[in-house]
Amino acid sequence: VPFDSRDGVIWFDGQFVDWKDAKVHVLTHGLHYASAVFEGERAYGGAIFKSRQHAERLIESGRILGFKVPYSVDEIVAAKDETLARMGFENAYVRPIAWRGSEMMGVSAQNNTIHLAIAVWEWPSYFKPEERLKGIRLDIAEYRRPDPKTAPSRSKAAGLYMICTISKHAAEAKGYADAMMYDYRGYVAEATGANIFFVKDGKVHTPTPDCFLNGITRQTVIELAGRRGIEVVERHIMPEELGGFTECFICGTAAEVTPVSEIGPHVFKPATITETLMNDYMAEVQPKPAAVAAE
Ligand code: PMP
Repeated sequence: VPFDSRDGVIWFDGQFVDWKDAKVHVLTHGLHYASAVFEGERAYGGAIFKSRQHAERLIESGRILGFKVPYSVDEIVAAKDETLARMGFENAYVRPIAWRGSEMMGVSAQNNTIHLAIAVWEWPSYFKPEERLKGIRLDIAEYRRPDPKTAPSRSKAAGLYMICTISKHAAEAKGYADAMMYDYRGYVAEATGANIFFVKDGKVHTPTPDCFLNGITRQTVIELAGRRGIEVVERHIMPEELGGFTECFICGTAAEVTPVSEIGPHVFKPATITETLMNDYMAEVQPKPAAVAAE
C-alpha cells in the first residue's frame, strides 16, 4: 500500500490527523530546498529505543540548518509515544520530520513556520531477511560523503540523502543490497543509511565519524562491544585495507546489526564478533522493566 493511502493517524503540528489527510502544499520550502530534518527510530515491545536521544538529535539537526524545532525534547518524546499507542503497534518504525513551511518561497525563508510531523509504521526488516542472515552485498558508491565544510554532515538533513538514494538505486540496479560510500578524502565512510564496522584479529575497526552521522546504533554497538571486552578502534580506514578484514557489518536504527558478505571485490564471512554484537543489540533494544526505586 503506498505511503499516502494507508490507514491510521499522523501527529501533525500537535494534532492527530487522519493518515490520508497529513499533507503539505506543493509550494513548501522543505520540498524545494531540502530544508527538512528527520529521525528514524524503532519501538520494541511498545517502547521506543533511545527516544530522548533521537529527539535531541532532531532538534540539533534543525539548529544546524538554522531553525528551531518548535517543541521540547519532552514534548517530542510524549508525541512519539502517543502516536505509537494510537497506531497500536508494539514493534514499529518511528519517523519524525521537521521542515520549513510555505510562507516564503526562494532560497531565503527566514519567516517560514517550522512544522513537525510524526508517523509510525511497521517495518520489520530493512534488508530481505534471507539476505540479511548470510550477509548483504555492498556496491561501492560513486558519490562520497561531503566535507563538513561543504554540507552540514552532522545533521540528519533530508538534503544529504540525495546522494544516498542515487547510490542505493545504482547499487540495487546492479543486484547489490546497498552501497558503501567513501568520504571526500577517500576514506571508508558508511553505507547509505547505516554506519559500518570491520573485524580483524579479534578487534573491531570503524571509521571516525567526522563527516557523517555518529549513529545512535553505532554508539550502542561500541558500548556493547566494550561490555564484552572487545576492543573497538575508531580511525580512518583506507580502501586498500578492505581486503584485510575478516568480518564486516553495518548498523543503524532500520538496519539494526546486519552482516556484510561482500564489498565490491572483497569478501567477508559473518563470524563470532558479528553474531555476538547482533544478538547483544537485539537484547539491548528490548524494553527494560522499570527500575524499582530503592527506599
Ligand atoms: N548513517 C546514515 C546515512 C543514516 O541514514 C543512518 C540512519 N539514521 C545512520 C548512519 C545510523 O544512524 P542511527 O544508528 O542513529 O539510526
